[in-house]
Amino acid sequence: MDADLHLHTLHSDGTYTPEELVAAAAGHGLAIIALTDHDTVEGCAETAALAARAGIGFLPGTEITAELHGRELHILGYFLALGDEALARELGRAQEIRQERVRQMVRRLNARGLGIDPEAIFELARCKAPGRPHVARALVEGGFCASLDEAFDKYLKKGRPGWVAKEKIAARRAIELIQGAGGLAVMAHPGLNHDDTLVGKLARLGIDGIECFHPRHGAGAPERYLSMAREFGLLVTGGSDCHGTSKNRPTMGTVRLPMSFVEILRERLHQPRPAALPAPAVGPAVGGPAGGNVPPAESAPAPSPAPLGS
Ligand code: AMP
Ligand code: FE
Ligand code: FE
Ligand code: ZN
Repeated sequence: MDADLHLHTLHSDGTYTPEELVAAAAGHGLAIIALTDHDTVEGCAETAALAARAGIGFLPGTEITAELHGRELHILGYFLALGDEALARELGRAQEIRQERVRQMVRRLNARGLGIDPEAIFELARCKAPGRPHVARALVEGGFCASLDEAFDKYLKKGRPGWVAKEKIAARRAIELIQGAGGLAVMAHPGLNHDDTLVGKLARLGIDGIECFHPRHGAGAPERYLSMAREFGLLVTGGSDCHGTSKNRPTMGTVRLPMSFVEILRERLHQPRPAALPAPAVGPAVGGPAGGNVPPAESAPAPSPAPLGS
């Protein structure tokens, strides 16, 4: 019995509807799933109802696009109270920024002679948190590019004509919003940031956990992040980051988190939060802070992350 705590639908840049997501989860024999669409909780209520009908446990979540020292990083939120006003307000603002950014990207591309209608992108995206993947799809559908990869390479990557920077929520604020909504804040796919010092920095900001198991974490990465979780007293999570078919093939099933990890997350919800870590001390650390769900190294469980090598 396993969980997948990182999943997207068409409420952000995935291709699955909530129905398709739950059906796929049932097909993979998952016992618990979490929906973590980018900067929105829009699909959570519907997915919760569908999951309940399918006998699958559900954690309402999100994946906030955040920033620390000018670097983009993603912070997952779990067990969110969906009616939380501060969270709804800030996610609403992030969604407006995303929509305005799509308009800016289109203006830049059209100034280069392309003819794209921004409304066609919103029509295609049908979600409140659109992003570059939707613009890429419009470029392919409009015949301007042969593939999504080409759309990113030619137009949407940093430095290309359609690139527009995205204003992000400060990491400290993202953590505060998630925890203020009764949730747990977790650093998503640390391996994709190529800067492991971010883990300690986020721990000092009070983050609760770290996603050790992710399809794009290569050999050695899970062990390295499990060891950092132990060092900083962080909870451990994992998930497939499945986007349906919007990024190559669906990744659901490639990372399966044993249920024991989820039980420890649930227990943490009912315990007082350990104090955020103090600034780093000079000299060797003696022992580690208590509070994570990392098993001792010799009894590390064996989730089955299958690196995609991408
Ligand atoms: P945004 O948040 O709007 O900047 O878009 C970022 C999203 O675009 C992330 O989900 C990336 O994984 C995705 N992305 C980046 N490069 C590519 C690519 N070459 N093909 C498909 N998706 C991509
Ligand atoms: Fe995404
Ligand atoms: Fe992410
Ligand atoms: Zn994701």
